[in-house]
Amino acid sequence: MEPNKPKRNQSKPPRPNGNNKGGKPAGNGNGRNSSRGAAIRAQKRNIEDANKVASQYLDAGSTKTETRKANFIDDSPRLKIIGLGGMDGGGSKNMMLVEYQNDALIIDCGTDLGVDLPGINYGIADFSYVKSIQNKIRGYVITHGHLDHIGALPHILPEIPAPVYGSRFTIGRVEEIFQNFGLPLPDGFELQTIIMNENTHEKLKVGEFFVELVRITHSIPGSTCVVIDTPVGRIINTGDFRLDPNPLDHERSDVERLEQLGNEGVLALLSESTTTERPGRTPSESTIEQSFMDIMKQAPGRIFVAIFSTNVNRIQMIVNAAVANNKKIALDGRSMVSTLEMAVRNGFMKIPKGTFVPIASANTLPDDQIVVVCTGGQGEPNSALMKMSEGAHRFIKMKEQDTVILSSTPIPESGNDAKIGLMVDDLMRKGVHVFRHETHDIDGCGPLHVSGHASQDEFKDMIRMTKPKFFIPIYGAYRSKQRHIELAVEEGIPRKNTVNAENGEVIELNQNQMQITGQVPHGTVLVDQTGAIVSNVVVKDRVLLAEEGLVAVVLTVDKRNGNLLTSPDIISRGFIYMRDNEEMMNQMRLELRRAVQQRFKRVDLDRFKQELREHVTHFLFEYTQRSPIVIPVVNVIGGGGGNKNGERPQEGQQQNGQRSNGRPAPSGDDHEPSKTPEQIAQEQQDKFQAMRERLLGQDARID
Ligand SMILES: [Zn+2]
Repeated sequence: MEPNKPKRNQSKPPRPNGNNKGGKPAGNGNGRNSSRGAAIRAQKRNIEDANKVASQYLDAGSTKTETRKANFIDDSPRLKIIGLGGMDGGGSKNMMLVEYQNDALIIDCGTDLGVDLPGINYGIADFSYVKSIQNKIRGYVITHGHLDHIGALPHILPEIPAPVYGSRFTIGRVEEIFQNFGLPLPDGFELQTIIMNENTHEKLKVGEFFVELVRITHSIPGSTCVVIDTPVGRIINTGDFRLDPNPLDHERSDVERLEQLGNEGVLALLSESTTTERPGRTPSESTIEQSFMDIMKQAPGRIFVAIFSTNVNRIQMIVNAAVANNKKIALDGRSMVSTLEMAVRNGFMKIPKGTFVPIASANTLPDDQIVVVCTGGQGEPNSALMKMSEGAHRFIKMKEQDTVILSSTPIPESGNDAKIGLMVDDLMRKGVHVFRHETHDIDGCGPLHVSGHASQDEFKDMIRMTKPKFFIPIYGAYRSKQRHIELAVEEGIPRKNTVNAENGEVIELNQNQMQITGQVPHGTVLVDQTGAIVSNVVVKDRVLLAEEGLVAVVLTVDKRNGNLLTSPDIISRGFIYMRDNEEMMNQMRLELRRAVQQRFKRVDLDRFKQELREHVTHFLFEYTQRSPIVIPVVNVIGGGGGNKNGERPQEGQQQNGQRSNGRPAPSGDDHEPSKTPEQIAQEQQDKFQAMRERLLGQDARID
């Protein structure tokens, strides 16, 4: 995984007077010194900034299918390969489509966990193109069970049902995420999975394709390369991999089979590119075994190991070290318990009877007899270790003599380093001894983590073994894929037989040629904490609110004479603190009164609200050089008619007991017909104040 998105809040230059408290207009003194144009431009700029932030994920303008002129020499049917996700970074909603005439397969279907937008949990690939060729989809083939390769299945599979193929562990993970998915699945949907044996080279016919899985080492059991024999030729998607010569489960990469496939002929190699900028070879997982043994032997008190729950082989290694030192194991964190339960059930872990104890009873054991394996190695909020470090854990209170081991490194460019740093600070404040991989040398212990991804020599090995005619780097940032192409060229692949494709680009192949021939819709669909999809319009508003805040002005106007019935009510959230800005607020109320007097009876209600919004925007910009979202609410009270506001208020507009005939509503609620408009307005005002205080908290104020 390598989410590499630029972070929010970096795109905006600081503005002058941004901290102006609003007592005086900004700038050189006496009042109206910024034009209405400047205010409107500032607001436009804010909207553009919000669009820009959101568009990093939404790939604005990519909703069309485009075709470019292709110059293939012959007219033989061509194979299409399209990266719908993952072509802009490892860990980024990996999803490839392989299409030949009337048949298509999806390889991997993952989430992007690196999305940094307010209220967004993760992204999945825009699958509108897949939807448009839905009748061609014969199956989903999954390389391995990491979320960035399977996490989108609960969203996409019910929409476009087809069998899911994968190794036993991968299918176990797929079933696990469906069981844990927060939303109900559509009626009649049934998850259909097919376990393939990655060790026996079994081939399954799926549509026009033959599919085979080949065992490869990574940081989760059951990782595979996906081999697809198509009518045009053989393609291999490596999935995520490293070539560990000495894996803990002794399940080495099946290099013999990869060489054999290479000798038979490979049309195209689609190889993951996460860490192509790392020289040499990735150390074997077995190099960290001794470090855990040493720490278990020497640590005086309780031991906590934070690790990804899917790194099952390493967890087995920790269990072995604990058992060898007469310690019991407690698991903590929802994903930890869920994944290990699945791993044990499917025979991927061997746990001596009586080794596991519930986390709730961890405290009943002597300190030197307990090891807690938990989530939170990336400093994730609400993870088990984070709660322990904050003193908010239900069962565990950290104390002196405790030892914490972080068996991972921060995901590059994820921003997690800072979170981990703060968590480690909290732990150390409590006297806890923390071992991190980064500082293992000065801590006098061995390495505590190795990467699950290959380094340059292993990427070259993969190309050498499979001898592809065409080379397509996938699952990586543009720069990492470009570096991968350089490695391929070093290995003798002609540069014209390589392509650094972007998300959505259509790569077409026949036996002699490879070319990008167009683009299909692509981008990111955003998902919130509950699993629900969030509209990009909502996200853009959230970004605007986060940057600038909100000001609502509420006016109650007598319909008959156009007078304000109460003092204008001004509500600010995330903009400025109003108690510190009395003078500006008073000025603003004067402005609002004037606006009502001059304009309310002259223009219709929609127009009046529009003018009010612009006027307030301008006013606030002048005082503060800021441009919050402005929401005007106009309550029109009283019967009669006879002015331009006689037409019905729009839907959603507050009418306050006024029916479409202009008369107050008869009985029913507290608006008796006998009441005067002033009384009704006062009641409204009181009700509104009570509601607002309830909803918005203690700094709500009203005149
Ligand atoms: Zn992976």
